[in-house]
Amino acid sequence: MSERVIPLVDQRIRALRAVVPDRPIVPTGLLSDGLGRPLRDLRISVTDRCNFRCSYCMPKEIFDKDYQYLPHSALLSFEEITRLTRVFVAHGVQKIRLTGGEPLLRKNLEILVEQLAALRTVDGQPLDLTLTTNGSLLARKAHALKAAGLKRVTVSLDGLDDGVFRRMNDVDFPVADVLAGIEAAQAAGLGPIKVNMVVKRGTNEDQILPMARHFRGTGIVLRFIEYMDVGATNGWCMDEVVPSAEVLRTLQQAFALVPLQASAPGETAERWGYAGPDGRFDPALGEVGFISSVTQAFCGDCNRARLSTEGKVYLCLFASQGHDLRELLRGGASDADLASAVGAIWQGRRDRYSELRAALPPEAHSAGERRIEMSYIGG
Ligand code: SAM
Ligand code: SF4
Ligand code: SF4
Repeated sequence: MSERVIPLVDQRIRALRAVVPDRPIVPTGLLSDGLGRPLRDLRISVTDRCNFRCSYCMPKEIFDKDYQYLPHSALLSFEEITRLTRVFVAHGVQKIRLTGGEPLLRKNLEILVEQLAALRTVDGQPLDLTLTTNGSLLARKAHALKAAGLKRVTVSLDGLDDGVFRRMNDVDFPVADVLAGIEAAQAAGLGPIKVNMVVKRGTNEDQILPMARHFRGTGIVLRFIEYMDVGATNGWCMDEVVPSAEVLRTLQQAFALVPLQASAPGETAERWGYAGPDGRFDPALGEVGFISSVTQAFCGDCNRARLSTEGKVYLCLFASQGHDLRELLRGGASDADLASAVGAIWQGRRDRYSELRAALPPEAHSAGERRIEMSYIGG
């Protein structure tokens, strides 16, 4: 099998040419990577644009009016995304998350949702089809998304205090409109809903308890995310990371919490449940989650691939290079060729950045090749 990897000069970051190996890799749903990890989760970015300028993701100074976003011709069409997704599903993917940028900025997204909802896993099951959004357009779109077959949503919200939130999104967007989006999603049946809160020291730690109080007992799962060193533009430094252990201690000052089992292998969040008066988990009060990719590596069972807006596959959130599938796709590759190429890419995967980060000196975290931005690849 000859698996050549030829670096190309991409318009923004170098890409690897996806190659069809000489020996076909027939999808069986049992593909595993170089460290024995299966392929179960595909995150698809549908746009690199966003209407927010969260400082940890798309700081205004970089993502200004002169910033060059991808031209429309570079984006995968819905048909191209669906065709590639079908290949990934044949290799074992069960869960799809649409993301961005802000995915609800992509026009007619419900048409893509409808196409993806029609796909079936290798066991004939519907996909777990979900979407991560900043919530700004959710009130308007929740119903159509549900009707198109979307199962649930994750909404990002970094605080309940309007001043704090407006500063964090940096476009003066009010909390009330995101809360209205969450309500609309709940009313449309897009649940169970998760709310993601990035905690940044000196910025929104004081929102931890108000957020917990607000969502406790609502059926909505609040998840605290450690501020990560993704991309190259957010000026990340360890001092601004609030470790999950610290967030947990803050919560425990106000609530009794008990640890819960992980819901699925490869699940990124550590779960804690609110306890009732008997000290046991009370499902009516619900649970919180911690995504601790800085202080606690979870690469060992990472089963996620990421497809960028213009068709590159990234094997890790912290990768600097993706494998270009668009070239194959637009060059007339058959489905069998695409399946072989995806199979070879996944078999060659050995990424485990978060585990290795712990062993790196701090200055090495942002050194080396320029990493992809979160707004380009999604969460
Ligand atoms: N725009 C949508 C949103 O905000 O939900 C989807 C894309 S956004 C890149 C996906 C998730 O990544 C969001 O929950 C966001 O808070 C999170 N995120 C972005 N930059 C981050 C960083 N530096 N550290 C941790 N999480 C980050
Ligand atoms: Fe936009 Fe989401 Fe990034 Fe905020 S986190 S700037 S909402 S893509
Ligand atoms: Fe997966 Fe990379 Fe995150 Fe590790 S660092 S969990 S390999 S995305």
